Amino acid sequence: MRIRVLGSAAGGGFPQWNCGCSNCRGVREGVGRSAARTQESVAVSADGERWFLLNCSPEIRAQIESFAGLHPKAPRHSPVDAIVITNGDLDHTLGLLSLRESHPLVIYATERVRAGFTEGNVLYRTLERFPGQVTWRVLEPGREVPLAGADGRPGRLLIEAVPVPGKQPIHLEHHGSGDPRDNIGLKIREAATGKRLAYFPAAGGLTGDVRKALAEADCVFFDGTFWSSDELPARGLGTKRAEDMAHLPVGGEGGSLTALHGLPAERRVYIHINNTNPLLCDDSTERKEAEAAGWEIAFDGMEVTL
Ligand SMILES: [Zn+2]
Repeated sequence: MRIRVLGSAAGGGFPQWNCGCSNCRGVREGVGRSAARTQESVAVSADGERWFLLNCSPEIRAQIESFAGLHPKAPRHSPVDAIVITNGDLDHTLGLLSLRESHPLVIYATERVRAGFTEGNVLYRTLERFPGQVTWRVLEPGREVPLAGADGRPGRLLIEAVPVPGKQPIHLEHHGSGDPRDNIGLKIREAATGKRLAYFPAAGGLTGDVRKALAEADCVFFDGTFWSSDELPARGLGTKRAEDMAHLPVGGEGGSLTALHGLPAERRVYIHINNTNPLLCDDSTERKEAEAAGWEIAFDGMEVTL
């Protein structure tokens, strides 16, 4: 299985357009050892020919251009067989509207995420230009299904949704209470090799099912949004703590670095990294702490082969 990171930053990207924090200033001015990053999206493939996108960021056009494996092989063609969405946040879904050039799309998501994106959204009409422009395939937590493109021919990758503590996207918060299917992680298994990827870019906490998925995986991608709970308030950048935004911080006593100590996965990668996170600086003490514990920090263009 090939895993290609197209974008590794949280919503807003790095640097963020309206942010002058020390990280964002540092990357703009070329001081400080860090690299700019686009918003989270990852491509996976079993054969290097048919690709599946995990999340579809607002920067998807440039992300597709950044990787030759996703370039068309014919006058009208895309190697992208389908797109999987883990929650309804705009940094995961807005790119879908950019893929409106009359190409059939297959999208895997929970029914909650599908409804949240399509209902009452006049802009969604751009993906309803012809019958069958979008085929939604509903992910039911706990049910493994083969990933397939528009022709329905199952490929070599199987996928299962795992509910993860999370929340509704900000623009739907007034629409009643949350649901376990608002935010999922993905277990992706290659049938032929048995290799497993656990993809959990947003996690407000750890349940038994989440821990099990992570423990069984050969490669883990996990929520690296914030290093600390008070990362934004401490910098005067808002009042919300990491937990208010349904992100388990990486550092500290209750953080994921401690909670996930001893995971057997051969590759452990933090992704969906907010522009304020000190992990973005190659020479920060936080970065060294994470690397000493065996974790890598995702960057745009990173590849993992299982
Ligand atoms: Zn910033």
